[in-house]
Amino acid sequence: MVTIKSKKEIELMREACRVVALTYKTLEEKIRPGMSTWELDEIAEHTMRSLGAIPAEKGYDIGIKGVPKFPASICVSINDEVIHGIPSKKRFIKEGDIVSIDTVALKDGFNGDAARTFIIGDVPKETKRLVDVTKQAFFEGIKYAKPGNRLGDVCHAIGEYVHSQGFSVVREFQGHGIGREMHEDPGIPNYGKAGRGIRLEPGMTLAIEPMVIQGKPNILELDDGWTIVTEDGSLAAHYENTILITEKEPEILTIL
Ligand code: MG
Repeated sequence: MVTIKSKKEIELMREACRVVALTYKTLEEKIRPGMSTWELDEIAEHTMRSLGAIPAEKGYDIGIKGVPKFPASICVSINDEVIHGIPSKKRFIKEGDIVSIDTVALKDGFNGDAARTFIIGDVPKETKRLVDVTKQAFFEGIKYAKPGNRLGDVCHAIGEYVHSQGFSVVREFQGHGIGREMHEDPGIPNYGKAGRGIRLEPGMTLAIEPMVIQGKPNILELDDGWTIVTEDGSLAAHYENTILITEKEPEILTIL
């Protein structure tokens, strides 16, 4: 069921999303080569808790037997890792890496969700282009995130843009509605057919999240049960915001 948020609920969504935006501001200031991904996790958790929020990914249960609950406050996925990388005291960020972070803050019963890919130092032009295209794909998609349009219009715009730039979208994971639950209906694939899917209505809050691969779209899951990597070893990037459908242009809640 797709939930339509009331005015009061929208204010609470706004606050949870503000925490996420501030968390990324802090991470952007602090991220540097030599730092462990565990340190990044600690920074994010501290920032969220100091703002009265709970890191919603910590303890998240994917519901598959034998897969442990997610142990950290952020997902950190480096280079050919696409999503769901687990922070580690033994994993260090290096010059030339691209580091995708995905995190969710829960505050007063509502969730805010966003992802960013950070470029560490100098990278080849094609790597920067991958990160830029992934971000732009989000903005291409939300051009269609207006009442009366269909969800497929957004999905189609994201997929078409990414493919026009010579990259691939991940097919097995998608964006989602968000609110009291981290993952609500509808599912929002990063490809699709225009004119299909539900009609968008004011009060819907959606997490739209292009996951883009430089090479082939195929992915693999590592033995930890969480980390998703590209099958061909090529780089991947991730960009996500929680948005609010309004009467006019969508509002991006996780950018201040
Ligand atoms: Mg996310």
